[in-house]
Amino acid sequence: MSTNNGHHHHHQMVPLAVLLKRELTSEKIEKPEIIHGQAGHSKKGEDFTLLKTECQRVPGDGTTTFSVFALFDGHNGAAAAIYTRENLLNNIVGAIPSDLSRDEWLAALPRALVAGFVKTDKDFQEKAQTSGTTVTFAIVDGWVITVASVGDSRCVLESAEGSVYSLSADHRLEENEEERERITASGGEVGRLNTGGGAEIGPLRCWPGGLCLSRSIGDMDVGEFIVPVPYVKQVKLSTAGGRLILSSDGVWDALSSEAAVNCCRGMPPNTAAAQIVKEAVQFKGLRDDTTCIVVDIIPPDKLDPPVPPPKKQGKGVFKSIFRKKSSESSSTIDREFSEPDVVEEIFEEGSAMLAERLDTEYPLCNMFKLFMCAVCQVEMKPKEGISVHAGSSNPGKLRPWNGPFLCISCQAKKEAMEGKRGISTFLEKI
Ligand SMILES: [Zn+2]
Repeated sequence: MSTNNGHHHHHQMVPLAVLLKRELTSEKIEKPEIIHGQAGHSKKGEDFTLLKTECQRVPGDGTTTFSVFALFDGHNGAAAAIYTRENLLNNIVGAIPSDLSRDEWLAALPRALVAGFVKTDKDFQEKAQTSGTTVTFAIVDGWVITVASVGDSRCVLESAEGSVYSLSADHRLEENEEERERITASGGEVGRLNTGGGAEIGPLRCWPGGLCLSRSIGDMDVGEFIVPVPYVKQVKLSTAGGRLILSSDGVWDALSSEAAVNCCRGMPPNTAAAQIVKEAVQFKGLRDDTTCIVVDIIPPDKLDPPVPPPKKQGKGVFKSIFRKKSSESSSTIDREFSEPDVVEEIFEEGSAMLAERLDTEYPLCNMFKLFMCAVCQVEMKPKEGISVHAGSSNPGKLRPWNGPFLCISCQAKKEAMEGKRGISTFLEKI
């Protein structure tokens, strides 16, 4: 996860000639076939999935569609997972202006995902129900995959070239020092369960509440620094395609990413998902809900001669952050002479700060309508909106007169998430 203002100016870094050349070659290739399957063993009944193909980008226009594959692993009840399954996609799409081209739409997605996650969390908390959920939400549009995640369900990508990439973050407190620091700085306490005699047991948890995750949707009975702001990663596959695997922690407690990829290689998606669940349950037993979604992104006509991967042109097109996770044993020389990975990273950002996530550095002047709240999309009167930069501790970058703007209610939510609202106010609210 990056702590800096890790906005990647992908479009500004690629020379125009490269863009034009791509336009004439790979970009004109037909959209891939998308085939998916899922499997699961339920123990608590708190895992839910959303598998939706042929979603229309422009309502009524069936020629431009995308697919959604999402996993919701609930805790302390199923209400948050069910609510999120039913409302999150609408809240994301509702945060994207309707008049964008496909490229603009894809560029707007990372910010819309942040807005949609926060709105869903805020709306669910207003229902005053306890329970929370992890979310791993993948949008597949042509060869571009955008994944937003909170919690510890995982999304893994295997490229056609055989490299394995993680497209999600791990928001377990035990695994994520940066998140532990954020929560401590926001007034939370991180520690293990104390049995009384001084013995501490189990994973690191956040107090009050005792949740082992630092991000989720719901969980109103824990501190508001358990935030719904997702880690977002957007990549573009080569036209050779690839396979996505989304699973809840029931799988990842038993299998590594590589083991999950390897145990089902060559199987069709339904069989592959069943195989991953079977391996996980065989290894650890059915301790938890164990759910798996497998999505194959396949060239439209595999009989066509293979398209050569685009030549590496300029630094930044292929991100070095993408390491082959399975290559620990291979030598440096092997790596230097191996083929470059042709999965291209377009966007990655994991900051929990809304000011960093809703900012618009991409030249999209209409991404946020001036008098609409950037999170909940409610219309505001002129001067009613509060800049997302208000109260920033970094005066060098402070631009309070600039949007995007938040409504009063979403501004209060932002302050609470950043630990700027006292616990007493928080308690009054519930
Ligand atoms: Zn709002």
